[in-house]
Amino acid sequence: MQSTVTPTHCPYCALQCGMNLTPAPDGTVEVSERTDFPVNRGALCGKGRTSAAVLASNVRLTSPLVRDEGGTLVPASWDEALDRIAAGLGRTRAEYGPDAVGVFGGGGLTNEKAYTLGKFARVVLGTSQIDYNGRFCMSSAAAAGIKAFGVDRGLPFPLEDIPKSGCVILVGSNLAETMPPSLRFFTELKENGGTLIVIDPRRTKTAEQADLHLAPRPGTDLALALGLLHLVIAEGRVDEEYVRERTAGWEDARAAAMAHWPEYVERITGVSVPQLRETVRLFCEPESAMVLTARGPEQQSKGTDTVGAWINLCLATGRAGRPLSGYGCLTGQGNGQGGREHGQKADQLPGYRKLDDPAARAHVAEVWGVDPDSLPGPGRSAYELLDALGTDIRSLLLMASNPVVSAPRAAHIEERIRSLDFLAVCDVVLSETAALADVVLPVTQWAEETGTTTNLEGRVLLRRRAITPPEGIRSDLEVMHELAARLGVEKGFPTDPEEVFEELRRASAGGAADYSGITYRRLAEENGVFWPCPAEAADVSEGAVPAGEAPAVHPGTPRLFLDRFATPDGRARFVPVSHRAIAEEPDDEYPVLLTTGRVVAQYQSGAQTRRVAELNAAAPGPFVELHPRLAARLGAAEGDPVAVVSRRGRAVAPARITNAIRPDTVFMPFHWPGEGRANTLTNPALDPTSRMPEFKACAVRLEAVSSP
Ligand code: SF4
Repeated sequence: MQSTVTPTHCPYCALQCGMNLTPAPDGTVEVSERTDFPVNRGALCGKGRTSAAVLASNVRLTSPLVRDEGGTLVPASWDEALDRIAAGLGRTRAEYGPDAVGVFGGGGLTNEKAYTLGKFARVVLGTSQIDYNGRFCMSSAAAAGIKAFGVDRGLPFPLEDIPKSGCVILVGSNLAETMPPSLRFFTELKENGGTLIVIDPRRTKTAEQADLHLAPRPGTDLALALGLLHLVIAEGRVDEEYVRERTAGWEDARAAAMAHWPEYVERITGVSVPQLRETVRLFCEPESAMVLTARGPEQQSKGTDTVGAWINLCLATGRAGRPLSGYGCLTGQGNGQGGREHGQKADQLPGYRKLDDPAARAHVAEVWGVDPDSLPGPGRSAYELLDALGTDIRSLLLMASNPVVSAPRAAHIEERIRSLDFLAVCDVVLSETAALADVVLPVTQWAEETGTTTNLEGRVLLRRRAITPPEGIRSDLEVMHELAARLGVEKGFPTDPEEVFEELRRASAGGAADYSGITYRRLAEENGVFWPCPAEAADVSEGAVPAGEAPAVHPGTPRLFLDRFATPDGRARFVPVSHRAIAEEPDDEYPVLLTTGRVVAQYQSGAQTRRVAELNAAAPGPFVELHPRLAARLGAAEGDPVAVVSRRGRAVAPARITNAIRPDTVFMPFHWPGEGRANTLTNPALDPTSRMPEFKACAVRLEAVSSP
């Protein structure tokens, strides 16, 4: 084992906090402060601080597993496991055609792995059926950003701009629990005299920090944004010159907003007209202001329109593409940003290219050395792909995802997964989904491999290998190399991450997310580089510059849109949107709204964090958060088991009674499997553009459960 300190990044969320790793003689790894990374300046949340615990071999898989004739997963050699996967996928392909083989990736995969997985699906398997769990995370914001600005990058500015802005509206983000080190940017905003407005149906720890907290009914953020824009117009606060010079489509968006009277919006959202007026005043009076959205407005069947409405508010007030102003999405997963740029999404090729664009296909096909016509077209979105398992899709290769816990309508998805002819899973632990597989492959983790991720700011980062993986474990890149060879493709699937990144640079060159000017060396020296970063000048820096002359390296692009937006004419687009109800409104049978979310000590489906004792002690299991009035009606006391029932199933968890939630709404965190699985209840109604399911609002009823 190496004994030096390795500067790297956290394996979990999209903040990608910097940390130092030091192997100890007893085989453990120490996580310590790394103060040179500007995003977290040394601070880590509990998940990051304890992340090394998941490296210990007693909580993870250290041998491939195959299902024996009796149906039990038993240890096997790598050759046997890989042979069985190649045979399983190959059999399906031969019998039913390439689209009967599905591939499901994850927002935690490095850029190199996401890139290789997309290439593996399209070149080796020839399937169009690939998507990833990041679809559940940010796809509505991405779709709205592309419509309005011509490109999607979570934040178009670095986090360090936030404290210098005049006002920030945080919509549906509880970053005090999801990304605690980022809270300091908002604390500094307030210290500098700026205003923080938080919009959330719950009075979260983040909302407690706000100067103004609005608590709309879940699923009504679209109406709220329209009501604010109506007031902006009515109060004469539109930045007419900006709208004229830098945007298009204002008249239609204006007309749509004018149909949303403040009193009408108050009736829909529950947010009072005076609060709406105060929000407009606080947002419009400073010279600069921002709107940041997260899963609240995005995970809705109208998420794209909802984010579009918030973007319209920014555009009408001249708060986009100007210093210290803009719209941004707080992407959630560790490589949620990079994961959606390089080809594991159903409709994309590397560099954020579109799979149905002939020029994009030709460019990428040339890099891959294949005929453009051999590349399949766009496939199904994540939920639709999972829903087709066992019917149109007969075999699945799954990496870094745990849909049995994290997919909406999870009991149905679990049943679909069980009905597959063949399932192969690559993971570090035996997740609930891996436990259903025919073959499970144990793979390396972040500290055991080098690779790049792209954080929520669009900053490409180098995660360095700090330790040697335990015996018996291989990387995802090695897995794809071996499977490609077994399926007849001997070349084009390197196992060295830097070699993959060099190919990714070429594949992304000229695309929206252009990484061609970024090298591992630059990432190591510069502590990250913001895309787009085109190549010409950077290539010069690779040795062709005469001695004594400064290389003309492209600096990367920390701030987008300051001169023009990424649309053909350089103007941002207003998109006319109108309020519509959530897919499943409460009724007599299901009279309460359920919203779901996260707690600070667990991450996503909990596959990793539920294996860390300290985190489990802090957050041991699911709960149902409900208002005292609702609890009294139910006859439930604190800690009593409560059943939450939706049209899709029933979950039971202890009551957590609090005034911090609306009386018409209950909240459940979604990190756990079993009886308390929140996603048993959630509604897979999809946004028509982004195909994002409506995790954030569905109708339920509550039932008292007698204590055992
Ligand atoms: Fe890791 Fe996110 Fe916590 Fe930072 S905030 S330590 S990146 S989980």
